[in-house]
Amino acid sequence: MEIRPLKISGISSHRPIIIAGPCSAESREQVLETATALSASGVKIFRAGIWKPRTKPGGFEGVGTAGLEWLKEVKEKTGMLVATEVATPLHVTECLKAGIDLLWIGARTVANPFAMQEIAEALAGHDIPVLVKNPVNPDIELWCGGLQRLLNVGITNIGVIHRGFSSSDKSLYRNAPLWSIPIEMKRRFPELTIICDPSHIGGKRDLVAPLCQQAMDLNYDGLMVESHCNPDCALSDSCQQLTPDVLTSILNGLVLRNNTLTTENIEVLRRQIDILDEELLSILSKRMRVSEEIGLYKKEHNMPILQSERYGQILENRAAEGAILGLSPGFVEEVMKAVHSESVKVQMEIMK
Ligand code: PEP
Ligand code: MN
Repeated sequence: MEIRPLKISGISSHRPIIIAGPCSAESREQVLETATALSASGVKIFRAGIWKPRTKPGGFEGVGTAGLEWLKEVKEKTGMLVATEVATPLHVTECLKAGIDLLWIGARTVANPFAMQEIAEALAGHDIPVLVKNPVNPDIELWCGGLQRLLNVGITNIGVIHRGFSSSDKSLYRNAPLWSIPIEMKRRFPELTIICDPSHIGGKRDLVAPLCQQAMDLNYDGLMVESHCNPDCALSDSCQQLTPDVLTSILNGLVLRNNTLTTENIEVLRRQIDILDEELLSILSKRMRVSEEIGLYKKEHNMPILQSERYGQILENRAAEGAILGLSPGFVEEVMKAVHSESVKVQMEIMK
């Protein structure tokens, strides 16, 4: 599947593309006040959720179709383009009727292939740009599947939004960024437009600025940030929304990396990395052969594959040895767990 960079009519392709606005459209006044302030600081694309997917019933579920009128007014008064989330074919029809400029599909919807398919079919034949958020669960195939469903009906002007992944573990973030997943998306589709949503990743105001910078450091194409004229009173996602002023100062402070420079001067270092990777692979392969021999021995002597005590020792010792070599214990643990799990797989093959 071939994916080209997203084109948004009237918006230059210079990075970063900035999309900003409240989590939800709450009232005509809140929408217009926020949009006017954002437009004055140069934001060209306004976002606001009209239909809100809430984890539990009873919360603010959005103002519905009435909010589309407010978005139209934002367009007329500020000249900004307007974007909202669609989760059903009816939402798509209403947005197309109202002249919304850009749509996004939310994380919960992307996780549901039936919903994704219905939305794709409702979009068929229209040329509105569409952004697909990552599904709530860290499943890259499901994310790609969402893109594929759009491509299959001829919707090719698409991009993605990285909004993090939900997890039951307590963490600094509301949604774990798991940067390796969007990085893998970019490896698979080098021209894919990737927008970072630091608001839903961070879940807290203080985390938005560093996340915006990290996204720029990773060469993301843009940012979608939640901004509300009075965040403390927001009806949804109050803790993560920024005033337009705060957002403006974050955007002005971003360090943009130069991605037009050639990488000639780091070629020598890259060559060293290639050589070291070759060595790593050769060592891993040798280690795996030894594992096979151990597997044969265990089979011959009718021993179980998993020796938990030995596994625990390996993790502990390697973390300590790695620390002396300047490697973080978390990293060493992750590598050793991956190596061990492959060894177990190899030995299971031998056992059967
Ligand atoms: C949103 O953008 O306000 C939203 C509901 O996002 P997500 O689908 O990422 O939870
Ligand atoms: Mn939100």
